[in-house]
Amino acid sequence: MGFVCSPEEGASIPPGRCKPLLEVVDPRPTIPPDLWHLVAWGGRQFGVPGGNLLELLFPRWVLEGEALCPWGAETLEPPGSLEPRCVLRCPDRSRWEEYRRILEEEVSPTLLLFPERIQGECFAASLEGEERQFRWVLWPSRARDQRLLWQEAREGRWDLVIGSQGAATLPLRGLRRVILDDESSEAWRPLRHPRISLRSLVGERCRVRRGAFFLGARVPSSKVFLRASKDPEGRTTPGKRLVFVDLHSLKTVPEEAGVPRSPVSPTLRRRTEEVLRQGGNALWVLDRKGFAGALLCGECGHSWACPACGVPVVWYRREDRLRCPSCGSLQDVPERCPRCGGGWIEARRPGLESLFDEARRFFGARGGGSVEDASLPLHAKERAARRGRLARGGVLLLGTRGALEICDQAPVGLIGWVEADGESLREEHDARFRAYRLLWESCWRGIDADSRIVVVQSRMAGKGWQGGLSRGWSSFWRQELEERRQLRLPPYGVLVQVEAPPEERKRIQAALDEAGASWMEQEGSDVLWIREEQPARVPALLGRFLPPKRPAQLHPRITLWTD
Ligand SMILES: [Zn+2]
Ligand SMILES: [Zn+2]
Repeated sequence: MGFVCSPEEGASIPPGRCKPLLEVVDPRPTIPPDLWHLVAWGGRQFGVPGGNLLELLFPRWVLEGEALCPWGAETLEPPGSLEPRCVLRCPDRSRWEEYRRILEEEVSPTLLLFPERIQGECFAASLEGEERQFRWVLWPSRARDQRLLWQEAREGRWDLVIGSQGAATLPLRGLRRVILDDESSEAWRPLRHPRISLRSLVGERCRVRRGAFFLGARVPSSKVFLRASKDPEGRTTPGKRLVFVDLHSLKTVPEEAGVPRSPVSPTLRRRTEEVLRQGGNALWVLDRKGFAGALLCGECGHSWACPACGVPVVWYRREDRLRCPSCGSLQDVPERCPRCGGGWIEARRPGLESLFDEARRFFGARGGGSVEDASLPLHAKERAARRGRLARGGVLLLGTRGALEICDQAPVGLIGWVEADGESLREEHDARFRAYRLLWESCWRGIDADSRIVVVQSRMAGKGWQGGLSRGWSSFWRQELEERRQLRLPPYGVLVQVEAPPEERKRIQAALDEAGASWMEQEGSDVLWIREEQPARVPALLGRFLPPKRPAQLHPRITLWTD
Protein backbone atom coordinates (compact mmCIF):
# COMPACT_ATOMS: atom_id res chain seq x y z
CA MET A 1 0.00 0.00 0.00
CA GLY A 2 1.20 3.48 -0.80
CA PHE A 3 -0.13 7.00 -0.79
CA VAL A 4 0.38 9.56 -3.51
CA CYS A 5 1.26 12.82 -1.79
CA SER A 6 1.61 15.01 -4.85
CA PRO A 7 1.95 14.35 -8.56
CA GLU A 8 5.40 15.12 -9.84
CA GLU A 9 5.60 15.71 -13.52
CA GLY A 10 8.79 15.11 -15.40
CA ALA A 11 10.51 13.57 -12.38
CA SER A 12 13.44 11.55 -13.56
CA ILE A 13 13.81 8.27 -11.75
CA PRO A 14 16.33 5.85 -13.21
CA PRO A 15 14.72 2.79 -14.82
CA GLY A 16 14.67 -0.21 -12.52
CA ARG A 17 14.26 1.99 -9.41
CA CYS A 18 10.56 2.34 -10.08
CA LYS A 19 8.02 -0.40 -9.41
CA PRO A 20 4.81 -0.70 -11.43
CA LEU A 21 1.47 0.07 -9.77
CA LEU A 22 -0.64 -3.06 -9.33
CA GLU A 23 -3.90 -1.31 -8.62
CA VAL A 24 -5.30 2.09 -7.76
CA VAL A 25 -7.35 1.49 -4.60
CA ASP A 26 -8.96 4.89 -4.46
CA PRO A 27 -8.36 7.70 -6.93
CA ARG A 28 -9.91 10.30 -4.59
CA PRO A 29 -8.16 11.71 -1.52
CA THR A 30 -9.30 9.75 1.53
CA ILE A 31 -7.27 11.54 4.17
CA PRO A 32 -8.19 15.13 5.00
CA PRO A 33 -5.60 17.82 4.24
CA ASP A 34 -4.95 18.73 7.90
CA LEU A 35 -3.97 15.15 8.70
CA TRP A 36 -1.71 15.00 5.65
CA HIS A 37 -0.15 18.18 6.86
CA LEU A 38 0.60 16.52 10.22
CA VAL A 39 2.51 13.73 8.51
CA ALA A 40 4.79 16.19 6.71
CA TRP A 41 5.04 18.56 9.67
CA GLY A 42 5.78 15.76 12.15
CA GLY A 43 8.49 14.47 9.85
CA ARG A 44 10.21 17.86 9.71
CA GLN A 45 9.67 18.67 13.37
CA PHE A 46 10.59 15.39 14.99
CA GLY A 47 12.76 13.66 12.40
CA VAL A 48 10.30 10.80 12.06
CA PRO A 49 9.89 9.13 8.65
CA GLY A 50 6.46 9.56 7.05
CA GLY A 51 5.69 5.84 7.08
CA ASN A 52 6.17 5.62 10.85
CA LEU A 53 3.95 8.65 11.33
CA LEU A 54 1.18 7.17 9.21
CA GLU A 55 1.28 4.07 11.40
CA LEU A 56 1.10 6.20 14.52
CA LEU A 57 -1.74 8.39 13.30
CA PHE A 58 -4.06 6.05 11.45
CA PRO A 59 -5.78 2.77 12.19
CA ARG A 60 -4.29 -0.22 10.45
CA TRP A 61 -7.28 -0.75 8.17
CA VAL A 62 -6.94 2.72 6.66
CA LEU A 63 -3.35 1.90 5.72
CA GLU A 64 -4.34 -1.49 4.36
CA GLY A 65 -6.46 0.18 1.73
CA GLU A 66 -10.02 -0.19 2.94
CA ALA A 67 -12.32 1.91 0.79
CA LEU A 68 -13.52 4.96 2.71
CA CYS A 69 -16.06 7.45 1.55
CA PRO A 70 -14.08 10.19 -0.19
CA TRP A 71 -13.25 13.22 1.89
CA GLY A 72 -14.11 15.55 -0.97
CA ALA A 73 -12.48 18.82 -1.77
CA GLU A 74 -11.49 20.75 1.30
CA THR A 75 -8.88 23.42 1.17
CA LEU A 76 -7.45 24.90 4.30
CA GLU A 77 -7.26 28.61 4.84
CA PRO A 78 -3.76 29.90 5.51
CA PRO A 79 -2.97 28.77 9.07
CA GLY A 80 -3.15 31.23 11.93
CA SER A 81 -0.98 31.29 15.01
CA LEU A 82 -1.79 28.92 17.83
CA GLU A 83 -3.25 30.57 20.92
CA PRO A 84 -4.24 27.79 23.30
CA ARG A 85 -6.70 28.66 26.04
CA CYS A 86 -6.14 27.19 29.47
CA VAL A 87 -8.73 25.60 31.75
CA LEU A 88 -6.83 25.23 35.01
CA ARG A 89 -8.94 23.82 37.82
CA CYS A 90 -7.70 21.37 40.43
CA PRO A 91 -10.86 19.29 41.02
CA ASP A 92 -11.93 17.31 37.94
CA ARG A 93 -15.59 18.24 38.45
CA SER A 94 -14.92 21.97 38.08
CA ARG A 95 -12.92 21.46 34.88
CA TRP A 96 -15.70 19.33 33.46
CA GLU A 97 -18.26 21.95 34.35
CA GLU A 98 -16.21 24.43 32.34
CA TYR A 99 -15.98 22.01 29.39
CA ARG A 100 -19.76 21.58 29.40
CA ARG A 101 -20.16 25.35 29.44
CA ILE A 102 -17.80 25.72 26.46
CA LEU A 103 -19.66 23.01 24.56
CA GLU A 104 -23.09 24.50 25.24
CA GLU A 105 -22.03 28.05 24.45
CA GLU A 106 -21.35 27.33 20.81
CA VAL A 107 -22.09 24.09 19.02
CA SER A 108 -19.31 23.26 16.57
CA PRO A 109 -17.49 20.03 15.70
CA THR A 110 -15.28 19.22 18.68
CA LEU A 111 -12.89 16.54 19.88
CA LEU A 112 -12.69 16.20 23.66
CA LEU A 113 -9.65 14.11 24.58
CA PHE A 114 -8.74 12.55 27.93
CA PRO A 115 -5.43 10.78 28.65
CA GLU A 116 -7.22 7.75 30.13
CA ARG A 117 -10.31 6.09 28.76
CA ILE A 118 -12.01 5.88 32.16
CA GLN A 119 -12.10 9.68 32.40
CA GLY A 120 -13.81 9.97 29.03
CA GLU A 121 -16.40 7.46 30.24
CA CYS A 122 -17.01 9.46 33.41
CA PHE A 123 -17.37 12.71 31.48
CA ALA A 124 -19.77 11.04 29.03
CA ALA A 125 -21.82 9.80 31.99
CA SER A 126 -22.04 13.40 33.20
CA LEU A 127 -23.71 14.39 29.89
CA GLU A 128 -26.37 11.73 30.13
CA GLY A 129 -29.85 12.37 31.45
CA GLU A 130 -30.11 15.87 30.05
CA GLU A 131 -31.11 17.12 26.63
CA ARG A 132 -27.99 18.47 24.88
CA GLN A 133 -27.90 20.78 21.89
CA PHE A 134 -25.01 18.88 20.39
CA ARG A 135 -24.88 15.31 19.09
CA TRP A 136 -22.21 13.51 21.08
CA VAL A 137 -20.65 10.07 21.14
CA LEU A 138 -18.01 8.23 23.18
CA TRP A 139 -15.06 6.80 21.22
CA PRO A 140 -15.66 3.04 21.43
CA SER A 141 -13.10 0.55 22.66
CA ARG A 142 -13.72 -2.20 20.10
CA ALA A 143 -11.91 -1.90 16.76
CA ARG A 144 -15.06 -2.75 14.79
CA ASP A 145 -17.03 0.07 16.41
CA GLN A 146 -14.14 2.48 15.96
CA ARG A 147 -14.24 1.77 12.26
CA LEU A 148 -17.90 2.63 12.13
CA LEU A 149 -17.34 5.86 14.04
CA TRP A 150 -14.54 6.81 11.65
CA GLN A 151 -17.07 6.70 8.82
CA GLU A 152 -19.77 8.52 10.75
CA ALA A 153 -17.37 11.25 11.83
CA ARG A 154 -16.34 11.75 8.21
CA GLU A 155 -19.95 12.01 7.17
CA GLY A 156 -20.57 14.73 9.75
CA ARG A 157 -22.93 12.75 12.00
CA TRP A 158 -21.42 14.03 15.26
CA ASP A 159 -20.72 17.40 16.88
CA LEU A 160 -18.68 16.01 19.75
CA VAL A 161 -16.51 12.92 20.01
CA ILE A 162 -15.19 12.11 23.49
CA GLY A 163 -12.12 9.91 23.38
CA SER A 164 -8.50 9.40 24.24
CA GLN A 165 -5.24 9.03 22.25
CA GLY A 166 -6.82 6.94 19.49
CA ALA A 167 -9.34 9.66 18.68
CA ALA A 168 -6.77 12.47 18.35
CA THR A 169 -6.54 12.06 14.58
CA LEU A 170 -10.18 11.21 13.96
CA PRO A 171 -11.26 12.90 10.71
CA LEU A 172 -14.20 14.73 12.24
CA ARG A 173 -15.88 16.73 9.48
CA GLY A 174 -15.60 20.47 9.97
CA LEU A 175 -13.46 20.12 13.12
CA ARG A 176 -13.30 23.55 14.79
CA ARG A 177 -12.28 22.84 18.36
CA VAL A 178 -10.18 20.45 20.43
CA ILE A 179 -10.29 20.25 24.21
CA LEU A 180 -7.37 18.26 25.61
CA ASP A 181 -7.68 17.41 29.29
CA ASP A 182 -4.83 16.78 31.75
CA GLU A 183 -2.38 18.26 29.28
CA SER A 184 0.68 17.61 31.46
CA SER A 185 0.00 13.86 31.57
CA GLU A 186 2.77 11.57 30.33
CA ALA A 187 0.10 9.53 28.59
CA TRP A 188 0.08 12.01 25.68
CA ARG A 189 3.44 10.65 24.58
CA PRO A 190 3.32 7.07 23.27
CA LEU A 191 5.66 4.63 25.02
CA ARG A 192 6.76 3.14 21.72
CA HIS A 193 8.74 4.87 19.04
CA PRO A 194 8.03 7.37 17.45
CA ARG A 195 7.51 9.10 20.79
CA ILE A 196 5.87 12.24 19.47
CA SER A 197 3.83 14.30 21.88
CA LEU A 198 0.20 14.03 20.78
CA ARG A 199 -0.42 17.34 22.52
CA SER A 200 1.94 19.08 20.04
CA LEU A 201 0.42 17.22 17.13
CA VAL A 202 -3.15 18.13 18.11
CA GLY A 203 -2.05 21.74 18.64
CA GLU A 204 -0.63 21.88 15.13
CA ARG A 205 -3.82 20.35 13.80
CA CYS A 206 -5.82 23.15 15.45
CA ARG A 207 -3.43 25.74 14.07
CA VAL A 208 -3.81 24.67 10.44
CA ARG A 209 -7.58 24.29 10.83
CA ARG A 210 -7.80 27.67 12.58
CA GLY A 211 -9.66 25.88 15.33
CA ALA A 212 -9.82 26.66 19.04
CA PHE A 213 -7.46 24.69 21.28
CA PHE A 214 -8.29 24.30 24.96
CA LEU A 215 -5.78 22.80 27.38
CA GLY A 216 -7.17 21.59 30.69
CA ALA A 217 -5.14 20.56 33.73
CA ARG A 218 -5.12 19.89 37.48
CA VAL A 219 -1.54 21.07 37.36
CA PRO A 220 -0.13 22.63 34.18
CA SER A 221 2.99 21.56 32.32
CA SER A 222 5.89 24.03 32.37
CA LYS A 223 4.93 25.44 28.96
CA VAL A 224 1.35 26.06 29.98
CA PHE A 225 2.46 27.45 33.33
CA LEU A 226 4.51 30.10 31.52
CA ARG A 227 1.33 31.24 29.75
CA ALA A 228 -0.77 31.17 32.91
CA SER A 229 1.62 31.94 35.74
CA LYS A 230 -0.79 34.55 37.15
CA ASP A 231 -3.77 32.18 37.28
CA PRO A 232 -5.19 32.32 40.84
CA GLU A 233 -5.78 28.54 40.70
CA GLY A 234 -2.01 28.19 41.14
CA ARG A 235 -2.43 29.16 44.79
CA THR A 236 -5.10 26.55 45.51
CA THR A 237 -3.86 24.09 48.11
CA PRO A 238 -5.17 20.88 49.67
CA GLY A 239 -4.75 22.57 53.07
CA LYS A 240 -5.07 20.32 56.10
CA ARG A 241 -6.03 17.32 53.95
CA LEU A 242 -2.36 16.89 53.15
CA VAL A 243 -0.30 15.17 55.85
CA PHE A 244 3.46 14.59 55.64
CA VAL A 245 5.26 11.83 57.52
CA ASP A 246 9.05 11.88 57.74
CA LEU A 247 10.30 8.40 56.86
CA HIS A 248 13.34 8.94 59.07
CA SER A 249 10.99 9.01 62.05
CA LEU A 250 9.98 5.38 61.38
CA LYS A 251 13.37 4.28 62.66
CA THR A 252 12.38 5.39 66.14
CA VAL A 253 9.34 3.07 66.18
CA PRO A 254 10.30 0.06 68.35
CA GLU A 255 10.79 -3.15 66.37
CA GLU A 256 8.84 -6.28 67.28
CA ALA A 257 10.88 -9.45 67.55
CA GLY A 258 10.99 -11.48 64.32
CA VAL A 259 8.85 -9.02 62.34
CA PRO A 260 10.51 -6.61 59.90
CA ARG A 261 9.85 -2.98 60.73
CA SER A 262 6.62 -1.81 59.15
CA PRO A 263 6.86 0.65 56.24
CA VAL A 264 3.50 2.04 57.38
CA SER A 265 3.81 4.81 59.95
CA PRO A 266 1.61 5.05 63.05
CA THR A 267 0.15 8.25 61.54
CA LEU A 268 -0.90 6.49 58.34
CA ARG A 269 -2.40 3.61 60.34
CA ARG A 270 -4.36 5.96 62.57
CA ARG A 271 -5.68 8.06 59.67
CA THR A 272 -6.63 4.92 57.74
CA GLU A 273 -8.40 3.54 60.78
CA GLU A 274 -10.45 6.75 61.10
CA VAL A 275 -11.52 6.77 57.46
CA LEU A 276 -12.50 3.09 57.43
CA ARG A 277 -14.41 3.43 60.70
CA GLN A 278 -16.50 6.20 59.15
CA GLY A 279 -17.42 3.89 56.27
CA GLY A 280 -14.94 5.31 53.75
CA ASN A 281 -12.37 3.49 51.61
CA ALA A 282 -8.61 3.91 51.76
CA LEU A 283 -5.86 3.31 49.22
CA TRP A 284 -2.23 2.64 50.13
CA VAL A 285 0.09 3.26 47.21
CA LEU A 286 3.50 1.65 46.99
CA ASP A 287 4.90 2.22 43.55
CA ARG A 288 7.19 -0.78 43.53
CA LYS A 289 6.09 -4.18 42.30
CA GLY A 290 7.04 -7.52 43.86
CA PHE A 291 7.87 -8.32 47.47
CA ALA A 292 11.25 -6.63 47.74
CA GLY A 293 13.27 -4.41 45.40
CA ALA A 294 16.65 -5.69 46.61
CA LEU A 295 18.12 -8.84 48.11
CA LEU A 296 21.23 -8.65 50.27
CA CYS A 297 23.48 -11.14 52.06
CA GLY A 298 23.29 -10.21 55.73
CA GLU A 299 26.80 -11.49 56.35
CA CYS A 300 29.01 -10.19 53.53
CA GLY A 301 26.74 -7.58 51.91
CA HIS A 302 26.61 -9.33 48.51
CA SER A 303 23.61 -8.07 46.55
CA TRP A 304 21.74 -10.00 43.87
CA ALA A 305 21.81 -8.54 40.38
CA CYS A 306 20.79 -9.64 36.90
CA PRO A 307 23.79 -11.36 35.24
CA ALA A 308 22.96 -9.71 31.90
CA CYS A 309 22.07 -6.14 32.95
CA GLY A 310 23.76 -5.73 36.33
CA VAL A 311 20.69 -4.10 37.90
CA PRO A 312 19.29 -5.30 41.25
CA VAL A 313 16.65 -8.01 40.82
CA VAL A 314 13.14 -7.86 42.29
CA TRP A 315 11.86 -10.68 44.49
CA TYR A 316 8.33 -11.81 43.58
CA ARG A 317 7.24 -13.92 46.51
CA ARG A 318 3.97 -15.13 44.99
CA GLU A 319 5.86 -16.67 42.07
CA ASP A 320 8.85 -17.45 44.29
CA ARG A 321 11.23 -16.03 41.70
CA LEU A 322 13.69 -13.20 41.22
CA ARG A 323 13.00 -11.10 38.15
CA CYS A 324 15.19 -8.52 36.43
CA PRO A 325 13.19 -5.28 36.11
CA SER A 326 15.12 -4.39 32.98
CA CYS A 327 15.20 -7.54 30.79
CA GLY A 328 12.65 -9.69 32.62
CA SER A 329 14.92 -12.73 33.00
CA LEU A 330 14.16 -15.00 35.97
CA GLN A 331 16.32 -16.59 38.66
CA ASP A 332 15.54 -18.93 41.53
CA VAL A 333 15.39 -17.48 45.01
CA PRO A 334 18.76 -18.33 46.62
CA GLU A 335 19.13 -20.24 49.86
CA ARG A 336 22.77 -19.37 50.41
CA CYS A 337 25.02 -16.51 49.41
CA PRO A 338 27.22 -17.48 46.41
CA ARG A 339 30.08 -15.35 47.74
CA CYS A 340 30.39 -16.29 51.42
CA GLY A 341 28.03 -19.25 51.69
CA GLY A 342 26.05 -17.51 54.42
CA GLY A 343 22.36 -18.31 54.78
CA TRP A 344 21.12 -15.02 56.20
CA ILE A 345 19.49 -13.21 53.28
CA GLU A 346 17.77 -9.89 53.81
CA ALA A 347 14.97 -8.38 51.74
CA ARG A 348 15.31 -4.62 51.32
CA ARG A 349 13.16 -1.96 49.66
CA PRO A 350 9.75 -3.47 50.45
CA GLY A 351 7.39 -3.75 47.47
CA LEU A 352 3.63 -3.91 47.03
CA GLU A 353 3.39 -7.65 47.87
CA SER A 354 4.87 -6.99 51.29
CA LEU A 355 2.08 -4.52 52.04
CA PHE A 356 -0.44 -7.37 52.09
CA ASP A 357 1.18 -8.84 55.23
CA GLU A 358 1.08 -5.35 56.65
CA ALA A 359 -2.61 -4.90 55.82
CA ARG A 360 -3.51 -8.29 57.31
CA ARG A 361 -1.74 -7.37 60.54
CA PHE A 362 -3.62 -4.08 60.48
CA PHE A 363 -6.99 -5.79 60.10
CA GLY A 364 -6.02 -8.56 62.50
CA ALA A 365 -5.72 -5.86 65.11
CA ARG A 366 -9.04 -4.15 64.40
CA GLY A 367 -11.16 -7.00 62.92
CA GLY A 368 -13.58 -6.72 59.99
CA GLY A 369 -13.05 -4.82 56.76
CA SER A 370 -11.47 -6.18 53.62
CA VAL A 371 -8.23 -5.81 51.70
CA GLU A 372 -8.15 -5.66 47.91
CA ASP A 373 -5.35 -5.78 45.38
CA ALA A 374 -5.88 -2.71 43.21
CA SER A 375 -2.99 -3.48 40.88
CA LEU A 376 -4.72 -6.33 39.04
CA PRO A 377 -6.34 -5.60 35.68
CA LEU A 378 -10.09 -6.26 35.89
CA HIS A 379 -12.78 -7.10 33.36
CA ALA A 380 -15.83 -4.87 33.15
CA LYS A 381 -17.88 -7.30 35.29
CA GLU A 382 -15.26 -7.55 38.06
CA ARG A 383 -14.87 -3.80 37.94
CA ALA A 384 -18.59 -3.32 38.51
CA ALA A 385 -18.52 -5.81 41.40
CA ARG A 386 -15.67 -3.90 43.01
CA ARG A 387 -17.54 -0.63 42.56
CA GLY A 388 -20.37 -2.25 44.51
CA ARG A 389 -18.05 -3.23 47.37
CA LEU A 390 -16.50 0.23 47.42
CA ALA A 391 -19.95 1.81 47.54
CA ARG A 392 -20.55 -0.07 50.81
CA GLY A 393 -17.21 1.21 52.13
CA GLY A 394 -14.66 -0.10 54.62
CA VAL A 395 -12.26 -1.38 51.94
CA LEU A 396 -8.49 -0.98 52.12
CA LEU A 397 -7.03 -1.03 48.60
CA LEU A 398 -3.36 -1.68 47.89
CA GLY A 399 -1.82 -0.71 44.59
CA THR A 400 0.82 1.00 42.50
CA ARG A 401 0.26 4.39 40.85
CA GLY A 402 -2.14 2.89 38.30
CA ALA A 403 -4.62 2.36 41.14
CA LEU A 404 -5.31 6.12 41.28
CA GLU A 405 -7.91 5.59 38.55
CA ILE A 406 -10.14 3.92 41.16
CA CYS A 407 -10.83 7.46 42.40
CA ASP A 408 -12.90 7.97 39.22
CA GLN A 409 -15.12 4.99 40.04
CA ALA A 410 -15.80 5.27 43.76
CA PRO A 411 -15.06 7.63 46.64
CA VAL A 412 -11.63 7.04 48.18
CA GLY A 413 -11.42 8.89 51.50
CA LEU A 414 -7.70 8.47 52.04
CA ILE A 415 -4.66 7.90 49.87
CA GLY A 416 -1.44 6.98 51.64
CA TRP A 417 1.84 7.11 49.71
CA VAL A 418 3.93 4.56 51.58
CA GLU A 419 7.09 5.85 49.91
CA ALA A 420 6.77 8.96 47.79
CA ASP A 421 10.42 9.52 46.85
CA GLY A 422 11.03 6.97 44.09
CA GLU A 423 9.80 8.99 41.13
CA SER A 424 11.63 12.18 42.07
CA LEU A 425 14.98 10.37 42.23
CA ARG A 426 14.92 9.27 38.59
CA GLU A 427 17.42 10.78 36.18
CA GLU A 428 15.03 12.52 33.78
CA HIS A 429 15.09 16.31 33.72
CA ASP A 430 11.43 16.39 34.79
CA ALA A 431 11.61 13.75 37.55
CA ARG A 432 10.54 16.19 40.27
CA PHE A 433 7.55 17.34 38.25
CA ARG A 434 6.47 13.76 37.61
CA ALA A 435 6.62 13.08 41.33
CA TYR A 436 4.72 16.30 42.08
CA ARG A 437 2.05 15.44 39.50
CA LEU A 438 1.36 12.04 41.08
CA LEU A 439 0.87 13.49 44.55
CA TRP A 440 -1.20 16.39 43.22
CA GLU A 441 -3.35 13.92 41.31
CA SER A 442 -3.86 11.98 44.56
CA CYS A 443 -5.19 15.18 46.13
CA TRP A 444 -7.60 16.14 43.35
CA ARG A 445 -8.57 13.24 41.12
CA GLY A 446 -12.06 11.77 40.93
CA ILE A 447 -15.11 11.59 43.15
CA ASP A 448 -15.29 13.73 46.32
CA ALA A 449 -11.60 14.51 45.99
CA ASP A 450 -11.87 17.72 47.99
CA SER A 451 -12.59 15.84 51.20
CA ARG A 452 -9.88 13.21 50.70
CA ILE A 453 -6.97 12.89 53.14
CA VAL A 454 -3.57 12.38 51.49
CA VAL A 455 -0.73 11.05 53.64
CA VAL A 456 2.72 11.41 52.07
CA GLN A 457 5.50 9.33 53.64
CA SER A 458 8.80 10.65 52.40
CA ARG A 459 12.39 11.34 53.37
CA MET A 460 11.78 14.98 52.48
CA ALA A 461 8.43 15.24 54.28
CA GLY A 462 7.23 18.51 52.79
CA LYS A 463 10.62 20.11 52.24
CA GLY A 464 12.27 21.00 48.90
CA TRP A 465 9.97 20.53 45.90
CA GLN A 466 7.30 19.01 48.15
CA GLY A 467 6.78 22.47 49.66
CA GLY A 468 4.92 23.21 46.43
CA LEU A 469 2.26 20.70 47.49
CA SER A 470 1.28 22.83 50.49
CA ARG A 471 1.65 26.16 48.66
CA GLY A 472 0.09 25.30 45.27
CA TRP A 473 1.55 24.67 41.82
CA SER A 474 2.59 28.28 41.18
CA SER A 475 5.07 27.96 43.98
CA PHE A 476 6.31 24.58 42.74
CA TRP A 477 6.89 25.84 39.19
CA ARG A 478 8.58 29.07 40.18
CA GLN A 479 11.19 27.16 42.15
CA GLU A 480 11.58 24.40 39.56
CA LEU A 481 11.85 26.77 36.58
CA GLU A 482 14.50 28.86 38.27
CA GLU A 483 16.74 25.82 38.28
CA ARG A 484 15.85 24.74 34.77
CA ARG A 485 16.55 28.21 33.44
CA GLN A 486 20.06 28.07 34.81
CA LEU A 487 20.68 24.64 33.30
CA ARG A 488 18.96 25.60 30.01
CA LEU A 489 16.63 22.63 30.36
CA PRO A 490 13.13 22.51 28.81
CA PRO A 491 11.11 24.71 28.48
CA TYR A 492 14.18 27.01 28.07
CA GLY A 493 15.72 24.77 25.46
CA VAL A 494 15.14 21.40 23.93
CA LEU A 495 16.54 18.04 24.98
CA VAL A 496 17.03 15.65 22.10
CA GLN A 497 17.28 11.96 22.86
CA VAL A 498 18.99 10.01 20.08
CA GLU A 499 19.16 6.23 20.04
CA ALA A 500 21.58 4.76 17.52
CA PRO A 501 24.17 1.98 17.24
CA PRO A 502 27.74 2.87 18.36
CA GLU A 503 29.20 3.54 14.87
CA GLU A 504 26.37 5.88 13.95
CA ARG A 505 26.63 7.57 17.34
CA LYS A 506 30.28 8.36 16.70
CA ARG A 507 29.42 10.01 13.39
CA ILE A 508 26.64 12.02 15.03
CA GLN A 509 28.95 13.12 17.84
CA ALA A 510 31.54 14.30 15.35
CA ALA A 511 28.91 16.32 13.49
CA LEU A 512 27.66 17.83 16.74
CA ASP A 513 31.17 18.83 17.78
CA GLU A 514 31.67 20.46 14.43
CA ALA A 515 28.46 22.45 14.88
CA GLY A 516 29.43 23.37 18.44
CA ALA A 517 26.39 21.64 19.97
CA SER A 518 26.52 20.26 23.50
CA TRP A 519 25.87 16.54 23.97
CA MET A 520 26.25 13.83 26.55
CA GLU A 521 26.31 10.05 26.41
CA GLN A 522 24.04 8.11 28.73
CA GLU A 523 26.15 5.48 30.41
CA GLY A 524 25.43 1.85 29.61
CA SER A 525 22.93 2.58 26.84
CA ASP A 526 22.65 3.46 23.16
CA VAL A 527 21.39 6.91 24.04
CA LEU A 528 22.90 10.27 23.28
CA TRP A 529 21.46 13.46 24.77
CA ILE A 530 21.73 16.79 23.00
CA ARG A 531 20.93 20.05 24.75
CA GLU A 532 19.96 22.76 22.33
CA GLU A 533 18.59 26.20 23.08
CA GLN A 534 16.89 26.71 19.73
CA PRO A 535 14.54 23.90 18.71
CA ALA A 536 14.61 25.21 15.13
CA ARG A 537 18.27 24.22 14.87
CA VAL A 538 17.62 20.52 15.53
CA PRO A 539 16.65 19.51 11.96
CA ALA A 540 19.84 21.14 10.66
CA LEU A 541 21.91 19.24 13.23
CA LEU A 542 20.41 15.82 12.62
CA GLY A 543 18.75 15.99 9.21
CA ARG A 544 21.62 14.40 7.33
CA PHE A 545 21.40 11.28 9.49
CA LEU A 546 17.84 10.72 8.28
CA PRO A 547 18.28 10.30 4.52
CA PRO A 548 14.88 9.60 2.94
CA LYS A 549 16.31 6.82 0.79
CA ARG A 550 17.39 4.77 3.77
CA PRO A 551 14.84 2.35 5.26
CA ALA A 552 13.16 3.97 8.25
CA GLN A 553 14.07 1.18 10.68
CA LEU A 554 17.77 1.99 10.17
CA HIS A 555 17.34 5.63 11.16
CA PRO A 556 18.49 6.78 14.57
CA ARG A 557 15.49 7.11 16.88
CA ILE A 558 14.94 10.68 17.87
CA THR A 559 12.74 11.95 20.69
CA LEU A 560 12.35 15.65 21.43
CA TRP A 561 11.68 16.86 24.96
CA THR A 562 10.46 20.44 24.94
CA ASP A 563 7.95 20.01 27.81
ZN1 LIG B 1 27.47 -13.38 51.62
ZN1 LIG C 1 18.40 -8.20 33.14
